[in-house]
Amino acid sequence: MENKIIQGRTIKEWEEQYPLMSKIISTDEVFWTNSKYEKFADATKKISLSEKDVRDAEERLNRFAPYIAKVFPETEKTNGIIESPIVPIPTMQSKMEETYNQEILGQLLLKCDSHLAISGSIKARGGIYEVLKHAEDLAIENNMLTIKDDYSNIDSDKFREFFSKYSIAVGSTGNLGLSIGIMSAQLGFKVYVHMSADAKQWKKDLLRSKGVTVIEYESDYSKAVEEGRKQAEADPNMYFVDDENSTNLFLGYAVAAYRLKRQLEEMNVVVDEDHPLFVYLPCGVGGGPGGVAFGLKLVFKDNVHCFFAEPTHSPCMVIGLMTGMHDKVSVQDFGIDNITDADGLAVGRASGFVGKTLENLMSGSYTVKDEELYILLSMLSDSENIQLEPSALAGIHGPIQLFRDEAGQRYIENNNLKNKIKNVSHIAWATGGSMVPKDVMETYYKKGKEASATLNN
Ligand SMILES: *Cc1c(COP(=O)(O)O)cnc(C)c1O
Repeated sequence: MENKIIQGRTIKEWEEQYPLMSKIISTDEVFWTNSKYEKFADATKKISLSEKDVRDAEERLNRFAPYIAKVFPETEKTNGIIESPIVPIPTMQSKMEETYNQEILGQLLLKCDSHLAISGSIKARGGIYEVLKHAEDLAIENNMLTIKDDYSNIDSDKFREFFSKYSIAVGSTGNLGLSIGIMSAQLGFKVYVHMSADAKQWKKDLLRSKGVTVIEYESDYSKAVEEGRKQAEADPNMYFVDDENSTNLFLGYAVAAYRLKRQLEEMNVVVDEDHPLFVYLPCGVGGGPGGVAFGLKLVFKDNVHCFFAEPTHSPCMVIGLMTGMHDKVSVQDFGIDNITDADGLAVGRASGFVGKTLENLMSGSYTVKDEELYILLSMLSDSENIQLEPSALAGIHGPIQLFRDEAGQRYIENNNLKNKIKNVSHIAWATGGSMVPKDVMETYYKKGKEASATLNN
């Protein structure tokens, strides 16, 4: 290990250049702030995606809304728009302040993507969007649809028969497979979901019950993606959803920002120069949290500060951003095992596309121990009666780390936020959980209670 060369340098040399590296390698928690962070106006000049692309995605989702409302009746009350609630969690905030002995200035809000319709995770944004986009492209190319039509007509034998000539493949740690699988099967596509070893049994069972072909691997996420890609390359009628590089996924996630803006307005939560917004986003390969962060920067520009959150054993994004090596390095290169109970975040190599796109827009990235995720899981359940899967808790630890860590304090000072910090709204992005079976949730909860008990002794 000592003498191993990673992108031209030994581990020791990487550690000398980046003071946080040895802590990352030891799987200690770290809070990293981005020295390449720039003003929005400067950063966007270097990015090829723009507001127009996100608006286009938003309009596409609006076109499909009548279809979604028809085939997924749970979306009827939102007229076929798949959107999640955002709620203040004051009891949790006090409980955290007490437990960690750390004041959290400002108010803590929870964005409940855990409760998104259809697939119960953030993947119901990008994953479903990409399948709909592909379906629309195929139907328009084959003169079955124009964008002026009533898309509820897609719920018909004619369309199902048409889509059944095509198939869709994806590699996933679980939740992306759920979203892609459920949506594609509903439209009539044949679907192949390549699952990594982290994927939970109930997710595989649920997909199989919907007629999806689930292929299992002993290895991690990167292998599942590679196999999915290979399968699709061999079949011209098969479309591969590329979680590592897809702009469609990214844009589907980004639409969240416009909707969040409206929600905050309705709640009278002000975001402006004197009322900054801090957002903490659990990160796997990067597409979900990266897409949301990109949308948020388009909407709130320099008044929003976005941080990624990863498990200490899968810190691929923080390594990629910090070193600028993005997808050229993996956590395994540095001897980190990529083994975490946060299955949605169990990714060893970050998306190069996402890392490069957000290189100058992310405020920072931090890591959280699995044990802490469980403690927060049971704490949130006790204090607010909201149940999340372990991955989704990574965001909630953000405000604690921001105020606790010296780098967080420096970030606040350097960005002239010191006298505004009491006005901050912190949004923890809760990325999944409502579909976790009750017995599985109970084991999570118990683990959290046990871990908190040891913490108190
Ligand atoms: C997939 C997922 C994430 C992260 O999204 P990426 O696009 O992989 O970065 C976060 N939380 C949950 C629950 C997820 O399923």
